[in-house]
Amino acid sequence: MSLHPRQLSEISRIGGRPSLDFVNTIHERHVQPLEDYLCGDQRYVEWAMTAGLLDRSEALRVGELKVFPANLMSEVRHLRHGLYEIFKARALGYAADTAAIDVLDRWVQRGWRASQVVNVGSQIQLVWRADAVDIWLPLKRIALDALEVVRSIPRERIKECASTSGCGWLFLDDTKNNSRRWCSMDTCGTPEKMRRYRGSSKAGS
Ligand SMILES: [Zn+2]
Repeated sequence: MSLHPRQLSEISRIGGRPSLDFVNTIHERHVQPLEDYLCGDQRYVEWAMTAGLLDRSEALRVGELKVFPANLMSEVRHLRHGLYEIFKARALGYAADTAAIDVLDRWVQRGWRASQVVNVGSQIQLVWRADAVDIWLPLKRIALDALEVVRSIPRERIKECASTSGCGWLFLDDTKNNSRRWCSMDTCGTPEKMRRYRGSSKAGS
């Protein structure tokens, strides 16, 4: 892992949903050593802000914490790993590992306990309780978003980047003919095509 983590502004969010972008905070999942964008407590809070999982006033309240919970980052990594397993299982059409389902269930329960159904004008909405704003709020939001993704989005739209370089990023394919294969053309699509072209040229020479 780099001693100097990249700037938050350099981190792409191409997943199409917050829960997918959360899983994608591991750079090149299948390559060692991994680069983990969420390399510490403060970094997690800053990333949550840039990802829209904490608004400014929520971040100010969370930022008042002098000491973060000792288990914060292990919980972050645990949920992130579980969601990768669940999204991958959903994309490929097999049953997700029970341990991964359990961790999602635990965070969904925490999310529901922290929210309430209210009238907003003539609309009925689910809102966060006033006392729900804490360091765990981004994970609760991520869990509820992930549940919606696996329940409401056709599984063939959930994809892992097809790059053979070890990318491992997940995204929602919103193309008309469901033809997207890469997290992005710049980082994976074009380099992969170049690799294949060189490979086929060597084979043909
Ligand atoms: Zn990729």
